Amino acid sequence: MRFDTRLIHAGQPPDPLTGAVNVPVYLSSTFEQTAPNKDRGFVYGRTGNPTRAALEAALADLEGGDRGLAFSSGLGAFATLLEMLPSGSRVVAGDDLYGGSYRLFEHHRRQFGLSVEYVDTTNPEAIWSALRAAKTRLLYLETPTNPLLKLCDLSEAVRLARAAKTLVAVDNTFASPALQRPLEHGAHIVLHSTTKYLGGHSDIIGGALVVRGRPLAERLAWLQNAVGAVPSPFDCFLVLRGIKTLSLRMRAHGKSAQAVAQSLEGARGVRRVLYPGLKSHPQHALARRQMDGFGGMVSLELKGGAPAARRFLKRLRVFTLAESLGGVESLAEHPASMTHSSVPRAEREKRGVSDGLVRLSCGIEDPEDLVEDVRAAIRGL
Ligand SMILES: *Cc1c(COP(=O)(O)O)cnc(C)c1O
Repeated sequence: MRFDTRLIHAGQPPDPLTGAVNVPVYLSSTFEQTAPNKDRGFVYGRTGNPTRAALEAALADLEGGDRGLAFSSGLGAFATLLEMLPSGSRVVAGDDLYGGSYRLFEHHRRQFGLSVEYVDTTNPEAIWSALRAAKTRLLYLETPTNPLLKLCDLSEAVRLARAAKTLVAVDNTFASPALQRPLEHGAHIVLHSTTKYLGGHSDIIGGALVVRGRPLAERLAWLQNAVGAVPSPFDCFLVLRGIKTLSLRMRAHGKSAQAVAQSLEGARGVRRVLYPGLKSHPQHALARRQMDGFGGMVSLELKGGAPAARRFLKRLRVFTLAESLGGVESLAEHPASMTHSSVPRAEREKRGVSDGLVRLSCGIEDPEDLVEDVRAAIRGL
């Protein structure tokens, strides 16, 4: 079946017991055994839960993986992925990452001797020279990146990683499977913060890994249970509920983001607007090829630095000043002092996350209201 149909039905057939069209929320921490060590598929709630199993089946289906694994947060999923790496492993990662992912990479570097090389993943030569330098266990990518919205050519990155016998994991949070499916390009693992577009309503914290290849899936499922960063059944239900409208929402997010990005480009006080749907985006052609839409995230750099960013954020009326993204409501934030404050200033500036950068998560309100809101805020600079 096609993607939009699978959004509604994958992992969610009517309940065999009652016919309920929604997956029930199984609030049970343990499950009766028919004899010692004989069960009906579920034993203990950390190991597995029927509501979570439905979500995991849906995620595997939508990303085209062999197995989905749900976690209590995106970082819970990321931390469990890092547990897979023997101490002293080498990782090559994108140089523009979610601040919390960078923070945990750096923690593992100091604490467990993980070696992490950050490269500009828009440049395949930079990826290749890092992969070639030494035996690398994992290539870790975001595309589009957070917050600079840089793209990585997934097929090319996978080709290079294959030549270096390196696993590829892709944080697909910004695109969601509605716009991009990294496993189809040959990646091994997809990571999500389901807090964002998959949940879609800013009402839960959750994460996921979707894995291609049975042995790797078994290893990560083992770690999911061993580490225990699992979501509650109710949170799983809310993500399942969010998933049903994912395509509708992503279309609306994309429409408003395109309108907002276009209205800001060239405006007084704006140095640059970063959005893959703009012709001025350095990888606009790749975005057209690799994605089924450009997403709801727009970043803009103001000429007046931090004071201008603060004034701009204060004047917004429809956008709410808050961390996070991907919900139905529009949010705005200042990466340098909020989501990316754990990246040291020198490192941050080297990567292009300046004090004048503002990140917008365009919601599904009327795009005209969003455009008027940002234009009024710009006029006040
Ligand atoms: C939010 C986010 C995460 C972390 O997810 P949490 O659910 O907040 O733990 C990871 N990657 C990206 C791209 C994110 O935006």
